[in-house]
Amino acid sequence: MSKVTTEAYVEGVLAGNRVMLARTITLVESNAQRHFEQAQAVLSHLLPHTGQSLRVGVTGVPGAGKSTLIETLGLKLVQAGHKVAVLAVDPTSSITKGSILGDKTRMEMLTREENAFVRPSPTGGMLGGVARKTRESILVCEAAGYDVILVETVGTGQSEITVRSMVDFFLLLLVPGAGDELQGIKKGVVEIADAILINKADGENKVRAEAARTEYNRALHYLTPAIEGWRPRAYTASALEDAGIDKIWSAIESFQEKMTESGAWQARRKAQLQEWLHTVIAEQLKQSFYAQPTVQAALPDLETAVRQGKLPPTTAALQLLQIYKTNQ
Ligand code: GDP
Repeated sequence: MSKVTTEAYVEGVLAGNRVMLARTITLVESNAQRHFEQAQAVLSHLLPHTGQSLRVGVTGVPGAGKSTLIETLGLKLVQAGHKVAVLAVDPTSSITKGSILGDKTRMEMLTREENAFVRPSPTGGMLGGVARKTRESILVCEAAGYDVILVETVGTGQSEITVRSMVDFFLLLLVPGAGDELQGIKKGVVEIADAILINKADGENKVRAEAARTEYNRALHYLTPAIEGWRPRAYTASALEDAGIDKIWSAIESFQEKMTESGAWQARRKAQLQEWLHTVIAEQLKQSFYAQPTVQAALPDLETAVRQGKLPPTTAALQLLQIYKTNQ
């Protein structure tokens, strides 16, 4: 990978070359120091060509129909003349070791479209570092001319908040389940959604889906909207039968129009950039702290003292920070 020049990456991406786009995202995702520096150089060249897309996050539990929805919606958008990129933030933890999103063949038809780019979700080994790189992957896709970026994740709190912080519109996909229709409310994800889509509203499920929609609309009415001037609503759809998909896309477009007009769109993006800055600062500081030999040397004893209740954690932390600062 290191043999490719920064110029070649930049030119390849700007020319819309999908192979170079994929390789650039791989470069961006890499945790190796030499890749990191080149990735930053590539990104700074691409930056003037970014920001023009509509970024949509899609979340939902495994099996809710995210892949099916993205394929159906993606194909429609491509047909309408858009260039669609699909990225994924896979929250797979070190606990499960496997990928939640990526183990199946996803979006086969969309993948074959010339104006679509589907980035497979990362596999086991690279996890952890990838979620935060997705912001950069979005920029690379935009520089390659993609005007709709769909970012998929699954229903785990942290990955949802991460994706929320990088998209313009956040769509929560639900399926009408038996019993408690409002379970999403408890998890807090409803509060950060810009719309709820009750999927699988087909066949026998249709009536239940409509009931769920009514119930969610009632609940949404009492929540403070995530963005000023936009009241999130619940919709029903069948990703499989392509019903209700146009309606949700119209809602997203109307969101873009209204929010751009009011300035809330731009404000949200600015706030996201600022948040991104602070996330990177926090990450870099943490990395630098734990990498410092004096900290590494002092840590085990202090950890033991804390575990044995001999030292308050805060005192130990402040001591370590002092060691870090004096040895900077
Ligand atoms: P994901 O895990 O959220 O990406 O879910 P998938 O898109 O893989 O869908 C899980 C299962 O639900 C698959 O068997 C799909 O065919 C099915 N499915 C997805 N959308 C619908 C729908 O609108 N109606 C019905 N009946 N089944 C669906």
